[in-house]
Amino acid sequence: MTSLKGSLQLLERLVNNLTSPMLPKLIAQSSRSMHKITALVEDLLNLSRINQDRLQLTKSAFVLSKIVSAGSSEIRLAEEYKIIVTGDLELEVFADEHQIDQVLVNFINNAVKYAPRSKDIIVSIEKINDMARVSVTDKGPGIRPEEAKRIFERYYRVETAGFQTGGLGLGLYISAEIIKKHEGRIGVESEPGKGSTFWFTIPIEI
Ligand code: ADP
Repeated sequence: MTSLKGSLQLLERLVNNLTSPMLPKLIAQSSRSMHKITALVEDLLNLSRINQDRLQLTKSAFVLSKIVSAGSSEIRLAEEYKIIVTGDLELEVFADEHQIDQVLVNFINNAVKYAPRSKDIIVSIEKINDMARVSVTDKGPGIRPEEAKRIFERYYRVETAGFQTGGLGLGLYISAEIIKKHEGRIGVESEPGKGSTFWFTIPIEI
């Protein structure tokens, strides 16, 4: 919010100088801050719905790989990351598209935040019996087993020196609640120093 305020104040000063070279930078910065605030508000709204047991699913049929390309375009805007989608690109599910998109965006955003040097992020889509499995793999620092057990808890964050993040520790908790509501499973496989694979399964129901 402070960053958005700052760039808007500078933009206000430039209002009579529309040729300033600062303009594109300030607009991009405002837009990034706005995205962050939107995500934060969405997290807080979801948290309050979960607390009141009012997280509802609006299900429709959609192709899982479509949401990967729609969601990841936002991420590509901000950074030079490559999202590689593999597996069953035609796989269709009957689920809450917006909420599943949120889980996926959360996994991908986390890969960008916590594995910043891992430029390739691999999203894999598979059909396992009557379930769809989606996973996001990065080649970042990984997570120690004792922490991996806890990161889906509300407000849990791994405090690692050197990471400039500023999250609330809500993303994975909300993701876990969304997947639970779909009667699926969520988890992480990780080897410290090698990277992490965050995954979830949901019933296909088609
Ligand atoms: P936040 O990002 O707000 O901290 P999350 O619930 O999304 O909240 O994540 C919880 C914690 O899990 C993070 O603080 C981070 O330490 C760890 N984490 C999540 N994704 C990754 C990843 N891809 N690599 C390493 N650590 C991760």
